[in-house]
Parts: sequence; structure tokens; C-alpha cells
Amino acid sequence: MATASRSTARAARPAAGRPEAAAAPAGAALGLPGGQLPAWLDAAFAQAQGLGEPPALLIHGPAGVGSYELAVALAAAALCETAPGPARPAGRACGHCPGCQTLRAGTHPDLLLLLPEALQGELGWGSGEEAEAAPSAEEGGGKSSRKPSREIRVEALRRAVAFAQQTSSRGGAKIVLVHPAERMNAVAANTLLKTLEEPPPRFRFLLSSAAPQRLLPTVRSRCRSLRLGLPPAEQAQAWLEGQGQSPEAAGLLLAAAGGAPFEALARAGQGLDAALWRELPAEVRAGRSARLAELPLPLLIDALAKLCHDRMRRVLGAAPRFFPADSLGPAGGSPQALRVLSDWARSLRREARQAEHPWHAALALEALLAEARQALADAAAAPPLNSRP
Ligand SMILES: [Zn+2]
Repeated sequence: MATASRSTARAARPAAGRPEAAAAPAGAALGLPGGQLPAWLDAAFAQAQGLGEPPALLIHGPAGVGSYELAVALAAAALCETAPGPARPAGRACGHCPGCQTLRAGTHPDLLLLLPEALQGELGWGSGEEAEAAPSAEEGGGKSSRKPSREIRVEALRRAVAFAQQTSSRGGAKIVLVHPAERMNAVAANTLLKTLEEPPPRFRFLLSSAAPQRLLPTVRSRCRSLRLGLPPAEQAQAWLEGQGQSPEAAGLLLAAAGGAPFEALARAGQGLDAALWRELPAEVRAGRSARLAELPLPLLIDALAKLCHDRMRRVLGAAPRFFPADSLGPAGGSPQALRVLSDWARSLRREARQAEHPWHAALALEALLAEARQALADAAAAPPLNSRP
């Protein structure tokens, strides 16, 4: 059991040198002590608390519905040092105790956060530049020329295993939070297995994932599982409006993200705001690349795939899912139009698999747009379904 005394005025270790716990989160990150959880995560939080602190919990659901935010809230609740009661409504972290304060500052000694470098800045845990050890010789190049890693590496998991064996600094739980858990490669995940099998007392793993099928089955089978679905549309819409989006923009962004509110907001933050989303089909049809060139390539390919999907739905007479119907051009089409669009969809899936490789983004953009424009024009030019003799 934990031995550290709570009365010891022990300085929390600074973030530097503890790579994954990087720097203090910017702003009031969701799920952190004192912060709000969106309405649709309240029930999931209660459900997770009802599981009775399993040593390993896998929270999964579509990207952007709040798996990570829920995991942070659960970690905060487990590390809060205020006794359960009125000061902690619904079992949430109190927001005032030393545990809550150090967690909010990003320096809690009993929390290890494993994020890919590329995500740390985005989620408000420092810039990511100090994440992981300095690049190894075989990776070549210094920090300035190295792209932030998108993987959770085996070294990080080894540190997590060592961390699990240490005594709790604040006398409570010790937690490793892994997000997105599917970014652990097989070697990294394998180093976890023994700790998952025989977890030290009061030690907890919280894994968050949008692709649990990509986790090692041996890891998955050792975790209790909590699945999050898409939130009710009105709650998602209200939350986005609370983040400063107009009602119309919130609706557009939510549709663009397939109903996942955090994903909707993240897209707007990456330059794909509601206005551009509405105009994107026309920009593509006209072959205008200036505004689209600002988007990260994976996001652009995803947008084109959704445009292709909606165009197919229009040919089949179904309502579009992602774009406003009036932005997509006339409904209807022919089997030939469907063939053209299917070929385009296949090609986009291929390009999506390569989108994170370091290739020449400008060339890729022009090629993608030329292909998109051609597919849309060919599909539109194909004779309509109902004009056959
Ligand atoms: Zn607290």
C-alpha cells in the first residue's frame, strides 16, 4: 500500500524530464478538476464509477465523443484527496485540494499521461517538443527537423511499467492514462501485459480509444470496457453553441463531424470552419485550391471522401449526411455516375492510407483536387437515371 504521508509538503516533480506529463494544460481543459463535463458524459462518468475502479478500463467510442475527456475526469476523481461527500457532487474531483491543483498544473506525481507527441499541444499538455527522449540516432536529425511522433513508443510504456511499481507519492491511486491507445504499436503494448495481469494495489490504467479493434486482443481482454455512443444531437448542438459557435455553424460542424462534438470543434480549429464547409463542394467543383491548401492533408482527404459519399447519396435520391443539400448540386444521376463516384471513393481510401506519410503536400493537393473535380464533372455529365428509354 501507499506509504507517502499526505502531510509532507512534497513538491510535485516539475514537468520537464517527465516527458509525457509535459506542461500545464492551457485553459480549463475538459475533465480536469473544477472543469465541466458535457451533459452527455455525465451518465458515462457515473457508469464508469459504478464499475468499482477496475485496474484497467478501456473507454472507447467514435473519435471526438469524449473518451479522452472522460478518462481525464476519472483520473481526476481518483486522485482527488477530498473525502467523498457534498464537496464532491456526483463523485467528481473537488477542484480545490492539493491533488486537484497539481493535476490541473500538469505536475501530479501519481499521474502518467501517455500521448503521442503530435497530440500533446493539441490537447493542451505542452508543445510536445520535450515529449519522449531526444530522437535516436537511427531516426536521424535533431528536434527541429523531426516531425512529432504520432505513435506511443515502447520507451514510454517501459516508463509506465516502472511508474506502476513505485510507491504513490500522495498516498492515493497511481494512474497511467493512454490516449489514443491504438497508437501503441505491438511491441509497446506487449510491455504492458504483465502489469495488466498483476497490477500493483491501487494502480489503474485508463485507456481511451476510437479504434479498439486495433488494440492487441491480449490487452483488450484484460480491460473492463466502457463504450460511448454519439451524444443526443440537441446536447451536442447546445455544447458547441456554448463553445462560441452560432447555431447555424454548430449544426454544420456537427454534421461535418458525423455528430461527434469534440471532433467538430477540432476541425474548426484546424481551419475547416463552418463557412468553408458550406462552400467546400463549390470550391472543389470550381477547382479553387487557395483555401483548401491551408487544411492538413488527412482532413482534406476526409472532407473529399464525405463529399463523394454525399454525392452518391444524392444520385440514389437519399438525403446527404455531411453537407447541406443545397451545396451539393442537383439530385439524381445514373449507374454510370455511381461507377465514377465509386472509383473516386476507392482512390480516396488509398490516398487516406498514405496521407500521413511525408510527401509533397502541394502536389498532393493539386492531384486530389483535379481528381475530385473530374469525378464530380463526370458524374454530373452522366445521363440521369430516369432518362433511359
Ligand atoms: Zn480534489
